[in-house]
Amino acid sequence: MSSALEQLTSIQQRIRIACERSGRDFASVQLLAVSKTFPAEAILDMATLGQTAFGENYLQEALDKITHLAELPTCPPLQWHFIGPIQSNKTRPIAEHFDWVHSVDRLKIAQRLAEQRPAHLSPLNVLIQINTSGEDSKSGVNPADAVALCQAVASLPKLRLRGLMTIPSPTENMEQLRGEFNICKTVFTTLNSAGLGLDTLSMGMSADLELAIECGSTCVRVGTALFGARH
Ligand SMILES: *Cc1c(COP(=O)(O)O)cnc(C)c1O
Repeated sequence: MSSALEQLTSIQQRIRIACERSGRDFASVQLLAVSKTFPAEAILDMATLGQTAFGENYLQEALDKITHLAELPTCPPLQWHFIGPIQSNKTRPIAEHFDWVHSVDRLKIAQRLAEQRPAHLSPLNVLIQINTSGEDSKSGVNPADAVALCQAVASLPKLRLRGLMTIPSPTENMEQLRGEFNICKTVFTTLNSAGLGLDTLSMGMSADLELAIECGSTCVRVGTALFGARH
């Protein structure tokens, strides 16, 4: 087996087992392949194996790969997710070239994305990033302010508010991680009780995807375990 196939199969197996343990359907968890720092060839390998959703953090690097792959006749159509911090002067290329954005954490960014989303494209799918670690330096809206932000974003044209994303503290303490994932899940449940109709909870990476699935994740963002270590 090629190493791309081995790695993809092994991640799918981890997702399947985690779903079984939680009594969830395998199809309820999407795999987002986080390809930051890896070349377009690595993305093409995964795409050829049927993995078509990719996450990128760095705008210029992502635009180069998106453009290159779109011109390759052998590459299937790909779905691009922007998952990195967003500077307000960089919203236009995100609105023009991505299908999803996971890292919206203030209204100004959402308003710019809405204004800049080209009319001929379908609405941009948006997740609001929640700061569940309580660290001031972390990006993400505070859980207490999430309802107001989500309601404001949901009313913007050319955006479709789909759910929430979180990046927990850099810890291996599973109980702490569980607490942070649960904060995000609680906000998600509250928003849906308020009628927002969200379907996407983006939580879990290479090291903690099983725990995130147990806590309700519907989208795991996996880099290292698929592509290898980043340099
Ligand atoms: C890099 C990154 C990932 C992937 O992390 P791995 O530990 O390599 O799986 C997931 N989410 C975000 C927001 C990232 O920046």
